[in-house]
Amino acid sequence: MAPSTSAHSAGHPKPRTIGELKRIPDFDSRSAGVSVKNEIRRNLLRAIERNEPLFPGVHGYEDTVIPQIVNALLSRHNFILLGLRGQAKSRILRGLLQFLDPEIPVIAGCEINDNPLQPICRGCRERVAAEGDSAPINWLPRDQRYVEKLATPDVTIADIIGDVDPIRAARGGRDLSDELTIHYGLLPRANRGIFAINELPDLAGKIQVGLFNIMQEGDIQIKGYPLRLPLDVLLVFSANPEDYTARGKIITPLKDRIGAEIRTHYPSTIEEGISITKQEAWTGRDSGYRVEVPDYLRELVEEIAFQARDDKRVDKRSGVSQRLPISVMENVVSNAERRALKNQESVVVPRVSDIYAAMLQFAKERDKLPARLMIWSDPDLLRRVIETRFMKSGADLKFPREVWERYFVPTVGGIPTWEYIGHRILPRPRDLIYLIKSALQFAINRGRTRVEERDFSDAERQYSRFALDALIVEAGVRISSVEDLLLHFVQSSEIITESEISARLVAAHTPASKLEDVIRLFVELTFLGFEVAPNRFEFLYDEQDERKFSIMARKTADETTNGVRRFRIHPAFHAFLEIKPHSATTPGQMIIRL
Ligand SMILES: [Zn+2]
Repeated sequence: MAPSTSAHSAGHPKPRTIGELKRIPDFDSRSAGVSVKNEIRRNLLRAIERNEPLFPGVHGYEDTVIPQIVNALLSRHNFILLGLRGQAKSRILRGLLQFLDPEIPVIAGCEINDNPLQPICRGCRERVAAEGDSAPINWLPRDQRYVEKLATPDVTIADIIGDVDPIRAARGGRDLSDELTIHYGLLPRANRGIFAINELPDLAGKIQVGLFNIMQEGDIQIKGYPLRLPLDVLLVFSANPEDYTARGKIITPLKDRIGAEIRTHYPSTIEEGISITKQEAWTGRDSGYRVEVPDYLRELVEEIAFQARDDKRVDKRSGVSQRLPISVMENVVSNAERRALKNQESVVVPRVSDIYAAMLQFAKERDKLPARLMIWSDPDLLRRVIETRFMKSGADLKFPREVWERYFVPTVGGIPTWEYIGHRILPRPRDLIYLIKSALQFAINRGRTRVEERDFSDAERQYSRFALDALIVEAGVRISSVEDLLLHFVQSSEIITESEISARLVAAHTPASKLEDVIRLFVELTFLGFEVAPNRFEFLYDEQDERKFSIMARKTADETTNGVRRFRIHPAFHAFLEIKPHSATTPGQMIIRL
């Protein structure tokens, strides 16, 4: 975006006085006097013509919020963003900076960035009259043309508009009513730039009146002294929608002068949420360790925010900020970092258990999240993931529960369908969604709209490959050739003793010294579950249980099998690895129940 007054950059030295500025070869005094709203309009039009990204780093607003902002700017309107916390309002407002010229000439030393050709403050007018073309100018970069203020009830007129400075008056031997004794507030200092006020409804009524007068008349009053100051400012605001519409919070004349009210929103898809979190969360750490966050983990973290937003117990007025998944993700990585350092692993790979650990920190903070949302194996929560997706897909359903009656066979293998699914998958939303989607696809390909048993068994084979791939990603950074190791379990029985496991690992060239570590890793990754009581197996969905389960497993082994531990291979991997089911097992802890 070439500024109108940038001829100095074309090989000429930068003008340092008003005279030098006027002598720029293609100097155009009209475009040098352009208002900030026209300057933004001009640069925005050019960006649109060139198909440049308008708000880089803002995701999910391409078809909703951004077109409205563009319209407001093209109309040269002041505007307000209405939205809940964590909806990128501040980022958008700061993003307006990019539509300003890289730098503009101002009269040197002026507190309100006076235009060298049209100064409005008395100091500059006197100076130009006295010094003429030799009056010095400065070049103001655009990042200094954005002024931001969070409105709070204790913000004063002096803060925003200005005050009389008695010291200045005394020093200059001037009268207090003299314009030269004024100490300018934030708004005049934003002259020829953008002034953003966040949480506008918290601004006291009389300051709103002051703002209005400036916008309307170019007049301000300081300590009762009227002052003509036709400022050139783009005013932008943000507010919580409920506060903004509440009676008496915004004075009507000010509201009338705000040209556009634009509603922001949370990401509408998991994918949008993921890109925001990816961009904002600090996951590329500086410890010298490589950090690899598996995709399914990103989805999980995002799903937490989506579920929380749907949760009735979360205050709708404050919402669940996008900062929630961002902070969770950062804590997830920290937890994984801590573990990697302790275990002397060279790569940091977060796991599901790190999410529990991260969520624990949040559950303690009030109004952030209901504690229940921490527990992924919570049956209601997982089931709701599916019900919500169906309801949102436009399916003609009155109640979420209808999803099951309408689209799924009531039982699989004699077990209620929901319960069956719960036993076959790793309790994570992505796994659940994968299995359900795959089963639906098989049903549709067979010309049905209801998933039958046969569709489930086909879907399970697909899912099993998917679950194994995820496991390979997770384990792969800790042991090489993990895929090869896992494939050595093909056609194993579901229940397997420690010595059988070792035999298979040795066949896959695992050194004897590493056997214990690999088994432990397989337990951590829920490929294997402990036998915690005779014929009762538990998977380590929660890291907190490791010590307890491990002691119970030792005890069970000592009492029943001469100290040889037994493990169960998780059903998620059965279909792909053709694991032989064991009839005598009880399913262990019931994870998902209708
Ligand atoms: Zn000035």
